[in-house]
Amino acid sequence: MKTAIISGASRGIGKEIALSLSKEGYRVIVNFLNSQESAISLCEQINSQGGHAVAFKADMANPRQIKEMVDFTVKNFSTVDLLVANAGIGYSALLTDHSDEIIKKIIDINLVGVITLCKEAAKVMLSQKSGNIITISSMWGQVGGSCESVYSAAKGGVISFTKAIAKEFSLSGIRVNCISPGFIDTDMNNNISLSDKLSLVDEIPLARAGLARDVADAAVWLASDKSSYVTGQIIAVNGGLII
Ligand code: NAP
Repeated sequence: MKTAIISGASRGIGKEIALSLSKEGYRVIVNFLNSQESAISLCEQINSQGGHAVAFKADMANPRQIKEMVDFTVKNFSTVDLLVANAGIGYSALLTDHSDEIIKKIIDINLVGVITLCKEAAKVMLSQKSGNIITISSMWGQVGGSCESVYSAAKGGVISFTKAIAKEFSLSGIRVNCISPGFIDTDMNNNISLSDKLSLVDEIPLARAGLARDVADAAVWLASDKSSYVTGQIIAVNGGLII
């Protein structure tokens, strides 16, 4: 059985990715920080359906806890076959209204956390001479979002980091790709008013908000051998909002 670590899998996109990967036969490490109940109930759901899921609490802004999660996985399951670096936080404000603390927090979780998690998983994958990494960016990382400047900077960093390590690891049997979601209906967008959501959907060529499942479907493809000739790519899942 292949083993996948999914950061931020207690809710939203990460949860859907964990569910989908477990249906594809992956054992999943369901990382969470605050939503313990939700992570445990997801694992119970997967295990009751014949899959194998284990919840692991670790703060993706804390390098020591990231390393502990990867070490736990190797100690218990021997390999890390797939990493989905998904955990992230959103933040909307004028740049001038970002405190120094929030700037650091956004970068620490959304960029440094992704880099550190990929680094720790890559150490294992390089020794295995095989592996697959999927990072989760955002359309704002591609084109920049007004009032989401620091978030955009972090997500843009994830895109160039993905391309760089795809080159670095290509001869070691490790593929690295990035999914760049558009507007996906999860808790992350709970602060957007209904009327703003409707006007946003008006701008989406495919005329609907994305679902976590849309992103999970792309992750399943990237995790499978059907994408075996694909590395270093940014797969946009945005209904055509950014073309
Ligand atoms: P969400 O519903 O708010 O869920 C966020 C997940 O990340 C939760 O499981 C949360 O865990 C986890 N998380 C946050 N900070 C963490 C930390 N420091 N350590 C460990 N886990 C942490 O968000 P989502 O919409 O699913 O977003 C998932 C990813 O997609 C993010 O990287 C986001 O930037 C990206 N994305 C989302 C959208 C969208 O429209 N929703 C669009 C583009 C990109 P706990 O609850 O357990 O703390």
